[in-house]
Amino acid sequence: MDNPLKVIGTSSSTCGSCNSAGCGTCGPSPHTNKAPVPFNRREFGYTVLAASVSALLTGCSQQKSVEQAAQPAPAAPALSPDLAVVQTSKGPVMTTLEEFYKMGPGPSSSHTMGPMRITYDFFQRVSKLPEDQLQRATGLKVHLFGSLSATGKGHGTDRASLAGLLGKAPATCPPQFLDGLTANPDQAYKVTLGSKTLDLTLKDIIFDATKGEFHHPNTMTAKLLAGDQTIYELEYYSVGGGFIEWKGYKPPDKGQPKYPFDHARDLKAYLIDDKIPLPQLLLQNEMAISGRSEKEIWEFLDQVAEVMVRGVDTGLTVESVLPGPIKLHSKAAAMQHNLKTTAKGEAGRAVTRVASYGFAMGEENARGHIIVTAPTAGSAGIIPAVVKSLRDLNTPTQKIRDGFLAAAAIGYLCKHNATLSGAEGGCQAEVGVGSSMGAAMIAQALSANPKVVSNAAESALESHLGMTCDPVAGYVQVPCIERCAYGAVKAWTAYSIASEEIPEQRRVDLDTTIDAMALTAKEMNSKYKETSEGGLAVSVVLC
Ligand code: SF4
Repeated sequence: MDNPLKVIGTSSSTCGSCNSAGCGTCGPSPHTNKAPVPFNRREFGYTVLAASVSALLTGCSQQKSVEQAAQPAPAAPALSPDLAVVQTSKGPVMTTLEEFYKMGPGPSSSHTMGPMRITYDFFQRVSKLPEDQLQRATGLKVHLFGSLSATGKGHGTDRASLAGLLGKAPATCPPQFLDGLTANPDQAYKVTLGSKTLDLTLKDIIFDATKGEFHHPNTMTAKLLAGDQTIYELEYYSVGGGFIEWKGYKPPDKGQPKYPFDHARDLKAYLIDDKIPLPQLLLQNEMAISGRSEKEIWEFLDQVAEVMVRGVDTGLTVESVLPGPIKLHSKAAAMQHNLKTTAKGEAGRAVTRVASYGFAMGEENARGHIIVTAPTAGSAGIIPAVVKSLRDLNTPTQKIRDGFLAAAAIGYLCKHNATLSGAEGGCQAEVGVGSSMGAAMIAQALSANPKVVSNAAESALESHLGMTCDPVAGYVQVPCIERCAYGAVKAWTAYSIASEEIPEQRRVDLDTTIDAMALTAKEMNSKYKETSEGGLAVSVVLC
């Protein structure tokens, strides 16, 4: 097989020995004929930090006027044909907001969010059964198989499954209710199906065979029983990322997008040719693909924002040792509390505030409380921290909705052209993408032009390339929670960089960086892909 990296540098738009258009190494730069300014990393770091803090505190940033002619973006390097993404991501992006921003209990989209969505689905199905069948019912049982059975106890798969079976909606289930299920494992809870009321306990969630010929590694069955007879049964699969399927599942019919795109450069062409604002373009696509009205879409995004901010607010007030063998103490509440008396100055306070928001939601995820995948459960602290800090700036609701659309577009592009899975691509695919989405969200919500939105996303993703996934003891806590805090702060930093530069002078475009992430994912050693076989996972000794 050819080394896929060999394709880099073959673009006809490059100027010679490197992959950069107009870098000035091989001839005069097309952008400027000024003498190059010596680069000083320390000065640059201070400038960026000051810019971040300024934007954060004031909510505005002066964008440079764009006077120079746009240079054509260099062609993205071709990907190796054996990359899975090349084989599977054909056609335009078809992901919808509801598929992307999924609400449910952490800490695992496949082992807690998926199972709760499954049992809530089953609850809704059996609630609609004919009354004579419901009258015969004596119980509900859920059987967990494969990986759900093998690792479900540590994740809290049983309590998430019971909560859904009891009719608690994944998006709105109070954290106290979930904690109560764990604290009182023998308590019976009532569930009403039509005119029938049944008692359920955690024992109705059964950890069944871990090995066997399962249709999917995360298989579960749900049954409505009348004594030892089964009235109704369905086999389900938690297929990852909070997505669920069942026996006989057919993907929902979708409409065709009004503005089909599969790369950022396609979006850019529409923005220029159709002169349509980015949020409008994304809204029109969402309506066309999902069939939902504008009102329904805004209501959904408002609910996502509320769940996120509620999670941050809860996390900022709770101090606890997080579940699991690491015995990790939460930090968000102390960080927030100490803000009142800290002597860190403006910069320290601003960074601490944003970081505390990231910690708060990351810790809520570790507690198994309700989170939103953005893009995953492990990276679920980043966008809530961004939303909360945008609200601190009194950003209007519509601007935050627009920010959610821009963030989703970045996530869609990364999903379509690389990966969102730590198991496939390391943490760059989770926290890296989350930070990139956050940067785009900030830029869009603060009314930056589309090039700045794209550049901010690129900058954040670029600064996460190569980040490995090595969770200690397999728990989504170390390094995940701190990385959510960093991801949020880096989102602000990326926005600050992108909004302070001349957008057309950015040398790397978003498509190129997404392709680089796919290449890095492909070549990353499997020890660093959520296997807990390398890095921190084998370096940290728990005692
Ligand atoms: S380290 Fe792994 S599990 Fe943790 S957030 Fe990153 S990708 Fe997810």
